[in-house]
Amino acid sequence: KNLSSAEIRSAFLTYFEKRGHQIVPSSSLVPGNDPTLLFTNAGMVQFKNVFLGEEKRSYTMATSSQRCVRAGGKHNDLENVGYTARHHTFFEMLGNFSFGEYFKRDAIKYAWDFLVEELGIPAEKLWVTVFDEDTEAADIWLNEVGVDADRLSRIGAKDNFWSMGETGPCGPCSEIFYDHGEQVAGGPPGTPEEDGDRYVEIWNLVFMQYDRNDKGELTPLPKPSVDTGMGLERVAAVLQGVHNNYDIELFKSLIKNAARLTGTKDTSHTSLRVLVDHIRSCAFLIVDGVQPSNEGRGYVLRRIIRRAIRHGYKLDMKEVFFHKLVQPLVEQMGSAYPELTEKADMVSNILLKEEQRFAETLEQGMKLLQDGTQSLKDKLITGETAFKLYDTYGFPVDLTADYARENGLTVDFDGFEKAMDAQRERARSASSFSADGPDLPHLTQATEFIGYESLQAESKLE
Ligand code: ATP
Ligand code: MG
Ligand code: MG
Ligand code: MG
Repeated sequence: KNLSSAEIRSAFLTYFEKRGHQIVPSSSLVPGNDPTLLFTNAGMVQFKNVFLGEEKRSYTMATSSQRCVRAGGKHNDLENVGYTARHHTFFEMLGNFSFGEYFKRDAIKYAWDFLVEELGIPAEKLWVTVFDEDTEAADIWLNEVGVDADRLSRIGAKDNFWSMGETGPCGPCSEIFYDHGEQVAGGPPGTPEEDGDRYVEIWNLVFMQYDRNDKGELTPLPKPSVDTGMGLERVAAVLQGVHNNYDIELFKSLIKNAARLTGTKDTSHTSLRVLVDHIRSCAFLIVDGVQPSNEGRGYVLRRIIRRAIRHGYKLDMKEVFFHKLVQPLVEQMGSAYPELTEKADMVSNILLKEEQRFAETLEQGMKLLQDGTQSLKDKLITGETAFKLYDTYGFPVDLTADYARENGLTVDFDGFEKAMDAQRERARSASSFSADGPDLPHLTQATEFIGYESLQAESKLE
């Protein structure tokens, strides 16, 4: 079936609603219940306390289409954007959840039935994985669903055993992959070549089966639960018969706008893909109350915006432009997310200000990078240069790294960290000896510095 993203979203929610699930709206990208988590990165985040048994809801089965951001923090896909066909910084995760109601068998059967019967995806294109010790799940797939044994793989704990934290609910996973065919590079799940775009993971089923105590011992949960997540854009690619998420209808329209805006003829240009990905995460983060800043969530937002602007620069955009992508985004996603429509002007204004701010130093920074790296023999951007770009020109280090990767260079991250340390020392002595003396400018630089630090701290917490 060829369905639009909006149609898939509603088909999914309706399917599970008909089977007794409560449709729950997407929660904010800023998790309300978890200060250690940078951004909402999965559908289960808003249900964390329900799974832990600390919160009761009026329903025991739920379904949602959750807006997610995976940039910074534990799940960081920022570096994948522009390089794989299947990763975004912002995406929507469709999910069905059982809080002690149904378990493995039903979760597997719902998933299969939805993909094959409801959406009409040919069964022989689907591959599944199970946790290698989970013979129960393997048995259901092979003997009840009837999946071909050649297309089932057993995977170790690293990828197929999920836990909420060091202790608490945990259990095996089962993933469903779609085979895009041999014209795309990549190997089946469980092989070293898996990390290509041929076999794309579309749905992850988590069976919360055990409680892990602080000694690491597992005891069966009295009421095992289910948490699933399926990437809307990846399913859309499957149903629309395209092999790259950026070719689905939603992105096509955004790319058309970005191409027009930047005067780019080649609509498969990587930078256009980066722009349309980044406008989604930036706009939705701002809608959810994040503002560009030098620390924590705000610094992640700033990094994404600046990475986008640098890609605009690559397309020869010498004027502000990024904020002009907000309106096309509203046209695509405003009906599903009315808050985006309501706050569109505010979002554009914040982006415009951030663009103007970065414009002052972008050009000089790019010159330093371009001139400085042309004659490089060892293809290494030194820590000093990366630091100067960061400190004087406002280039987040991942922006420099993105440029380096494009141009076959590497960045000396250790050297960068050392330069940061030295800067911190200078800022400290400046603040203790002459807070109002000639060293004052260092204090403002120190703010940027602390920003990076707290960001690191935050991602470690997760
Ligand atoms: P992958 O291995 O492809 O990076 P994952 O195992 O990290 O995916 P999960 O954490 O299992 O992903 O999330 C559930 C589902 O959400 C995935 O099966 C996929 O369909 C979708 N998904 C995950 N990350 C992204 C992303 N960055 N962009 C788009 N969809 C994603
Ligand atoms: Mg991932
Ligand atoms: Mg995976
Ligand atoms: Mg997964």
